[in-house]
Amino acid sequence: MLRPIISLTLSLCLVLPLGLEARVEPTHGFDIFSQDEEIQLGKENAAQVMKQVPVLPDSDPVTQYVQRLGAKLSDHAPGYKWPYNFHVVNVKEINAFALPGGPVFINLGTIQAADNEGQLAGVMAHEISHVVQRHGTRAASKQMGAQLPLAILGGLMGNSTLAKAAELGISFGVGSYFLKNSRRAESEADLLGTDIMYDTGYDPRQMAVFFEKLEKQGGAAANSAINQFLSDHPNPGNRAQAVSAEVATLPPRNYLSDSSEFASVKQRVAGMKPLTSEQVAAMQKQGDNQAPQTQASADISPSSTLKPFHHNDYEISYPENWQVFGDQSSNVTIAPRSGVSQNAVAYGAIIANYQPEDSAASLDAATHELLTSLRQSNSELRQIGHDESIRVNGVTGKSVDLIGSSPIKDAQGRPFEERDWVVASQRRDGTLLYIIFISPDKDFGTMRPAFEHMLRTLRLR
Ligand code: ZN
Repeated sequence: MLRPIISLTLSLCLVLPLGLEARVEPTHGFDIFSQDEEIQLGKENAAQVMKQVPVLPDSDPVTQYVQRLGAKLSDHAPGYKWPYNFHVVNVKEINAFALPGGPVFINLGTIQAADNEGQLAGVMAHEISHVVQRHGTRAASKQMGAQLPLAILGGLMGNSTLAKAAELGISFGVGSYFLKNSRRAESEADLLGTDIMYDTGYDPRQMAVFFEKLEKQGGAAANSAINQFLSDHPNPGNRAQAVSAEVATLPPRNYLSDSSEFASVKQRVAGMKPLTSEQVAAMQKQGDNQAPQTQASADISPSSTLKPFHHNDYEISYPENWQVFGDQSSNVTIAPRSGVSQNAVAYGAIIANYQPEDSAASLDAATHELLTSLRQSNSELRQIGHDESIRVNGVTGKSVDLIGSSPIKDAQGRPFEERDWVVASQRRDGTLLYIIFISPDKDFGTMRPAFEHMLRTLRLR
């Protein structure tokens, strides 16, 4: 603790008269993710990105240089100390993106396009600022609040907690909607990036110079290689003026001159042959054909160790590597994180209440009404076999199997068939508590023991 105090004292002495308090403060906004969740989310998505695009190994001299530069810059990042890490994507197009909680990816083309270290530092400081500001999860949280209906069970699931559930499965992988920043997020990242550059010793104006250069080239040539960056990081307007205005609030200082390290990395990348996005896409397609997205991944595969969940209306235990989306008074989705995508549950269980029209309806009648309602919002759902009476911990229930279409698609882009196993039981007040166990039909046999295991632990209150 001694060192920071000394340096703080020194810098206070040196710059306080000129206004240390002029630093931009990170903004805060509604964010449903805890910091730990955010870090976890970033890690999982970074692992996904590494499979989707050609990332240079950490041992690559270009990556090592970018990691050193990133470490210097992130040392000056304000706010929460995220575990920043930096990677170089061996792709020609100019782009860069940051995942929640710290992973930053820089395309090789960006390094090739930067005229000096300050410009590359500018892109990186800007990305670091997106992490500081939690722009990805804030956008995702906002979306959750907007109560997106789930595709598979549309009408019945337009409940905030379930929308939240669906959204919690949001992907931040390559091409994700949540990596496309709003203009407001852009101007925040520019301002914070300005301070990070300044504090690290780089001329912040180089960041604006680089962005403007992209703008000119991208606009003039309709150059798709550049438009990608601008589409993910849209110009908030008057970028250069905003950066200059922020710089004007900071005491004058000498900036680092270009480094010899940058010069040698520039030389190295000039000789490299990064892939184009088309080539990467073609490789991805090939990879998909070899290993189509058909297997339940490790995180989906249910743990046999169960964990209890206490709801106001019931108790149930579920595989400990899955998660509960929702709370003790809401409808709930229990699913592996990667089993829930932006607008649908592919693997997991939904537990909800259904109020039949007639509260005196029998279990049989109420279940049929529920099924009709489910089919109204999902016309492709069809029942297979007959509904059966079952007993769940001494309570009579109905069990029905439905077939629909899964959000998971085969290599040709056709959805797999989905099995939805509905179990309903009735409360004294006539309402149904029902569970829908969901899985692509081809994996249902593998998932069924876990679903049955869960069902055996269900106890109505
Ligand atoms: Zn940005």
